[in-house]
Parts: sequence; structure tokens; C-alpha cells
Amino acid sequence: MEKELRATDIAADTGNSPATAAALAGWHRLLDEVAGALASTEAAGGRDEPARLRSKLEEILAGSSTALTACAGFRAVYMLGWGTYERGSAGPFAGPPDIDFAAAIARFRADRYRQAEKAGEDTCFLSEGEVAGWLADAGILAPIEVRGVEIEIDADPPYEPRHWPECPSCGEGRGEDRMGQVDHRRNASAWFRQCTRCGHGWDRREEAYRASDPMIPDDGRDIPGSCVPYAIAQACGLPIDLAIDECRRHGWRQARGVDDAAGISAALALGAEVTNGVLEELGLSRRRGVTLGAFLTAARPDRRYIVKVKGHWLAVVCGENRDAGGTRRSAPVLDAWEIRPAAAACSPAEAQGASARR
Ligand SMILES: [Zn+2]
Repeated sequence: MEKELRATDIAADTGNSPATAAALAGWHRLLDEVAGALASTEAAGGRDEPARLRSKLEEILAGSSTALTACAGFRAVYMLGWGTYERGSAGPFAGPPDIDFAAAIARFRADRYRQAEKAGEDTCFLSEGEVAGWLADAGILAPIEVRGVEIEIDADPPYEPRHWPECPSCGEGRGEDRMGQVDHRRNASAWFRQCTRCGHGWDRREEAYRASDPMIPDDGRDIPGSCVPYAIAQACGLPIDLAIDECRRHGWRQARGVDDAAGISAALALGAEVTNGVLEELGLSRRRGVTLGAFLTAARPDRRYIVKVKGHWLAVVCGENRDAGGTRRSAPVLDAWEIRPAAAACSPAEAQGASARR
């Protein structure tokens, strides 16, 4: 191959803008080098092709950053517009950011006049609509393709901060701290770690929902049908689990509850002393009817009671209504028992009071 292509010279003065000329010169230089490489491998007999040609091309490309940088001189996008009443537009075009449009248009006009003169025309029609094409032909602007692209980022794989603990189940994901159900009555929110990969949950715990208020511990009040064991636990000062286990032995089932006799049996089995006839002792007339409000007023402040209203038990401990069911004060009291817990289940002061009353 003859190296007759002096592209660098061709690019030198074609009326292009400096940036365009530089870009074209860069690319033509690249072409010259490729042509040279082809010529030299051909001269070597072509036996070592294509490995040598390939390595030569790679060498050239590695050194071609000048040409690429020159192309980047086209770093502005232009839309051309004209007309006062009837608007015309053309574009978009890419070009260097420093085009002198007044000078370019002066050249366009001179070019058109020259053509008209050459053709022996009596008039020369100048149209803004032809300027864009002329600028492109002159290499001052380059038409560019416009593509609308819809983009959407999905978080897959998800962001997995390294400071989150590793999943104990799959060992690949990380545990995100997540809030579970909120129990507004207890001001408690459930929290747990959930794996970003497999969804495994662990490290379950409870925290106060409103940080300014204390959280009421889960004392069993929210277990469905738990009013009997809950009242026993409150009246006897026992953990709810103990009361539930004993009530279960006496026939209690979650969401179904248990009858009075079984509840009393469970309290007795837990070591409590249970006394009947409380309403009479407090001077309340069962015949005329006793409301919860009246009972609370009459209840002795140093005693513990279990009170039965329709379908529900509640504990009244040392004058405090420990009802978890929100029974109205107007609700009729159907029965009541005084509870003296087993001494071991009470605080020392309570135990002393209980033994003094025996
Ligand atoms: Zn996992």
C-alpha cells in the first residue's frame, strides 16, 4: 500500500472551525498511522498476520487520545431558530462552544453571492433555512441524533451496608433494622432484623414507640381470652406465664377463656387464699345492684380483689383498677373475691400485710 494519503494536509485549511479542524486532523493522523502499519506488515511478507497487525493497531489506538480529545471539542449542542412571525428551527447540532455565528453567516452570505454571480443571476435569494445545512457542510456544526431513553433504577442488587449484621440464615445478605407491629396501648413497637436477600428475620425486640413515654411491658393483657389468668396474675402478683399455665391445667384455652369455678381453682392451686362474700363485707347490696364504680369506691385500699362483670374478670389491687379490658364504671358487678396471694409471690411488705390479716 502506497502511503499517498496525506490526510493531515487535507484537514489543514478546509474552512473549519479550529476545534473541528483539530478533530479532523487527529482522526486523519490516525488513518495515516493505520495505513502505515498495513504497509509495513505487508512489506514483512504478511507471515506473522494477524497478531502483529493487531498489536500495532493496539499501539496506535493507545496513542490516539489526542484525536479523541479533539473530538470532545464538540461539546455544545445548538438549536438554530429564526423568523419573527413564522418561526423556523433546525437542530440539534453539536459543535464547539465558541462558534462566532456572525462571522459564519457573513461567510455564508459571501458564498451565496459568489454562487449567484457565477451563475449570472440577477437576484440572490438568502434563506435562513439553508444556513444550518451550510454550517454542517462547512464542518462548523455536526448533526446529531437525538434519542429519548427511558431510564429506571431498580435496587437489585440492593444496597447492603457493611455495618449491618450478616444474616445468620443465608450468610449472604445483611440484616436491615425494621419496625414491626406497633401496640399503641402499650406504647410498644416491635423491631427486628430482616435479611436483604432471603428475608429471614431475627433479633426481635421491643422498644417504646414514643420515646418520650415509657413502654408498658407485655404482661399478657393482650392475649385473647386471657382476662381470667391476667386478673389472677395481677391479684396474686405472679408472672402471666405462670397464671396461664395453671389456668390451662384447669381448662383455659386461648380466645375461649374459662369459667369462674376453674379460674378460682387455678388461683387456689397457685397458693392464693380466696374469700367469698366480699360484696356483703363491703356493705354493697347485691340485690340493688353494684356497679364497678361503686365497688372501686368501697374497695379497701390494702386488699386485693378479683371482680367479675358480665363475661369478664378484672383485678383491683390496693385500690387500683388493673382491668385490661376497659370495663365501664357503670358495668354491674356480678361477684367479687378477695385474694390473698401465697406469701412467696408477694413483695416483703405485701407478704407482711397478708400474714397480719390472717
Ligand atoms: Zn439471609
